[in-house]
Amino acid sequence: MNEKHPAFLPSGTPPTWLGVMGGGQLGRMFAHAAQMMGYKVAVLEPSRDCPAGHAADHLICADYSDQKALAELAAQCAAVTTEFENVPAQSMAFLAERTFVAPSAACVSIAQNRIEEKRFFVDCAPKSGVMPAPHKTISTEADIDAIDDALLPGILKTVRMGYDGKGQIRVKTRDDVRAAFDKMGRVTCLLEKMLPLAYEVSVLTVRGADGQSVVYPIAENVHRDGILFTTTVPGPNVTAECASRAQAAALAIIEQMGYVGVLCIEFFVLTDGSLVVNEMAPRPHNSGHYTIDACVTSQFAQQARAMAKLPLGDVRQHSPAVMLNILGDVWFENGSDTPREPAWDEVLRLPGANLHLYGKDAPRRGRKMGHVTFIAPTLAEAQASLAAACRILGIPL
Ligand code: ATP
Ligand code: MG
Repeated sequence: MNEKHPAFLPSGTPPTWLGVMGGGQLGRMFAHAAQMMGYKVAVLEPSRDCPAGHAADHLICADYSDQKALAELAAQCAAVTTEFENVPAQSMAFLAERTFVAPSAACVSIAQNRIEEKRFFVDCAPKSGVMPAPHKTISTEADIDAIDDALLPGILKTVRMGYDGKGQIRVKTRDDVRAAFDKMGRVTCLLEKMLPLAYEVSVLTVRGADGQSVVYPIAENVHRDGILFTTTVPGPNVTAECASRAQAAALAIIEQMGYVGVLCIEFFVLTDGSLVVNEMAPRPHNSGHYTIDACVTSQFAQQARAMAKLPLGDVRQHSPAVMLNILGDVWFENGSDTPREPAWDEVLRLPGANLHLYGKDAPRRGRKMGHVTFIAPTLAEAQASLAAACRILGIPL
């Protein structure tokens, strides 16, 4: 065992507990992975009926900033992590005074704020070799007047709390920016130049408490209506050169942050082949779900290893994989409000199908209910299963 970083070994009497802030599907899949290794899992989440709560050994039902609840979580757990990036950074700092917390409050707060995040990416550029999209902070009318023409057309994004394309408005002119800024309630925003994307990729990287990092194969992502639709690994468009540049950039970024845990970094590949860093998530990511079925160590097992100060696992991918997100839409007949039960038996008959449902009881359009990962000896076979699943579920391809 590493003397400087003694690990929190699983099992034993009393058992070792790992804690997670947030009760969503990422917390649920973390709980499954940590329990498989012999840990007990505690979840702190305000709502009792939540995906992670159903999987956890203990659910602390409280607000994310409830100090009594946070103290209880810290007292119970050898280490605590988060499953969503908008966890109050003060809560992570409060926990860190009482137990081991990974990632740190400082790292989480960078990822929570698009301005801080972009500034950090710019600081990293000499080592990472990638820059974010050209951008400008918009917090006053004067900022709008001062917009450089080169930033238009662009996208106005709220600085905080954006996800799944929410909190974003596309703008062509300064007047559009004014209207969009009003629509956002005049909260501080970031105007980003609209870039010509060829395709989008993400890189999952993990850094252990001992400072060792690993990086997963690069994932190619397709979004629909601002929500991740599919992740394909290896990506059909990704060149070896692009993959190694993005992986090297991700490693440089996680190192410079001094981050401990799982970090997912999203990149754009532009039509001229250049790479632009978009944003990062201080936790496992939807585009990393393929690692559960296609890699030696899943992103959730890595999260448990990193927070328990254990050696990180093998990131090797053993099978080509395609992940399809399952939204609440598939519980309704095409375009109608008539509910139906999706034909999971038919989906599961497809070669290489692995179904993951998150235990949410109320399917709503656009709500992430689960995912299916198809693994196969070749990517073409995995893609054929994906196409068949889309036909069965009534998802247009
Ligand atoms: P999520 O949390 O789901 O990843 P988000 O709401 O935080 O998304 P972004 O990832 O910044 O927001 O943007 C969502 C999508 O909008 C991107 O995946 C990309 O398709 C598109 N997009 C964002 N910024 C730009 C840009 N500067 N130029 C072109 N397209 C963009
Ligand atoms: Mg994104």
